Amino acid sequence: MSAQLIDGVALSQKLRAEIASRAAALTAKGKQPGLAVILVGDDPASHVYVRNKVKACEDAGIRSVKEQYPADMTEQALLERIASLNADPSIHGILVQMPLPKHIDPHQVIEAIATTKDVDGYSVLSAGELMTGLEGFLPCTPYGCMKLIESTGVNLKGKHAVVIGRSNTVGKPMGLLLLQANATVTICHSGTADLGYHTRQADIVVAATGRRNTLTADMVKPGAIVIDVGINRDENGKLCGDVDFAGIKEVASHITPVPGGVGPMTITMLLMNTIESAERA
Ligand code: NDP
Repeated sequence: MSAQLIDGVALSQKLRAEIASRAAALTAKGKQPGLAVILVGDDPASHVYVRNKVKACEDAGIRSVKEQYPADMTEQALLERIASLNADPSIHGILVQMPLPKHIDPHQVIEAIATTKDVDGYSVLSAGELMTGLEGFLPCTPYGCMKLIESTGVNLKGKHAVVIGRSNTVGKPMGLLLLQANATVTICHSGTADLGYHTRQADIVVAATGRRNTLTADMVKPGAIVIDVGINRDENGKLCGDVDFAGIKEVASHITPVPGGVGPMTITMLLMNTIESAERA
């Protein structure tokens, strides 16, 4: 048996077309959605991420305001800039690209963003909204993973989902979203004894560890859905995920590739959150 690929590029294209038409409708009403993307310093990977986000906005008809500041920008100056973007009615989402230079406290910065514009969903309030089931912004990567899982047509009620990883941005919110969708959820981490014992019981596995081959074919129940969040390089420098794709595709019913699975969905859900923010404003 060979698993069906869950194509994140195709699903992204479909959702981005929907986003573009909602953006056009808002623009026609004189309320073009706007996203501010702030980059502090010279981290080369951050430049690439920001460029991709800005380009995706432009393609969808969302106005993007890219603000680039030198690495020695003070925390106070950054907080003041965020305060003025919070007050700007033409801006519906504010994103500060991480990591920030060492002298700036990322928590202070994230908490300075108005909850109504926290389209990354990283603030304590946004996390609390997710935890308590209130309407807020969902963190983009787990939000995208849910869309990928939904695209298989599975009904999560009564299913067992295992999330590998417990970061605040991926693993924990992923577990909460699966729980909200009525799955029974297990969250594993580096302290979990016998990871395979848990994953072999799973109807859905989401791997988000940042370690190659965390999940191998012998750890997967036949017919399971496998979502691979990880971004790693193999010994030849080729991009790969956290799961042994070649082995697992012979066991699973559905699997996301890396690249082309979760990655494109993360930016798509950022655009979706920005549109939702503009519609609510
Ligand atoms: P973190 O490093 O913050 O968290 C990794 C988690 O994995 C931790 O909870 C850690 O456990 C757990 N872990 C590590 N090794 C093992 C192991 N051998 N067995 C079980 N659990 C383990 O990473 P992130 O959550 O931020 O990201 C995870 C991966 O997803 C990375 O590769 C990242 O690049 C990628 N990513 C991809 C995105 C995309 O758009 N495709 C977006 C965001 C992230 P513990 O808590 O005990 O240390």
